[in-house]
Amino acid sequence: MRPLVTLIGAGPGDPELLTLKAARALGAADVVLVDELVSRGCLAHVRSDARVIEVGKRGGCKSTPQAFIEKLLLLYAKEKKNVVRLKGGDPFVFGRGGEEAEALRAQGIEVEVIPGITAGTAVPAALGIPVTHRDYARGVTFVTGHTKEGMGLDWQALVRSRTTLVIYMGLKGLERILSCLKAAGMDAATPACIIENGTLHSQKQRVATLGTLSGDGFAGPALIVVGDVVRFARVAVAVPEAKAA
Ligand code: SAH
Repeated sequence: MRPLVTLIGAGPGDPELLTLKAARALGAADVVLVDELVSRGCLAHVRSDARVIEVGKRGGCKSTPQAFIEKLLLLYAKEKKNVVRLKGGDPFVFGRGGEEAEALRAQGIEVEVIPGITAGTAVPAALGIPVTHRDYARGVTFVTGHTKEGMGLDWQALVRSRTTLVIYMGLKGLERILSCLKAAGMDAATPACIIENGTLHSQKQRVATLGTLSGDGFAGPALIVVGDVVRFARVAVAVPEAKAA
């Protein structure tokens, strides 16, 4: 049997959003390579004698080079260990899971993928935003605000699509993103929001419009959502306590 690596999606944050299949595979792992974005609560399923290796990959901060992560996966897999690669959200949605699977398969390693709930749907949902509500959107488009050089977005096509835009890794480039959308013809009154640490206790959000949204005070990880469906956002409103009769 060929050596195997299981690529697992840990979901968007709340450890209860891990799938049953992922929990079972974590319990069977000898070695777990885990990304920084993964909630520590997800590791509760890992056996106490298993080896957990943290390989942070958050944009802009110090992180383990991709090539080194792939080397480690290969090394343990060749030792016939049960190796799990645990990533935030879904491993194949802006998670470099595709690159890792490709590199492993090229070395003769079998790769099994256990999908996870991506932040792109779960995080808006945590605020009550239905990304494809059919009265307000024709669909949903997932994009990254952090594109590889030369892979710029076609802003006019995005605006024409009349889909909800969910932008991963868009906080740093927020001003540029908002002005590109306006320049491409999107109405400045279009509802837009930022959601940071979605589904976690530390969740924080700001609901505004394309013309007024500001990223001040947010550090990420955060999603930007733009489109009429953002009008469904339930932002907590402080309700004064009822006076005792
Ligand atoms: N594979 C992941 C995405 C990895 S890219 C997935 O499917 O969800 C990392 C980006 O995802 C972050 O910069 C942020 O834009 C978004 N993200 C992930 N978790 C998030 C969360 N809990 N709240 C808000 N945004 C999140």
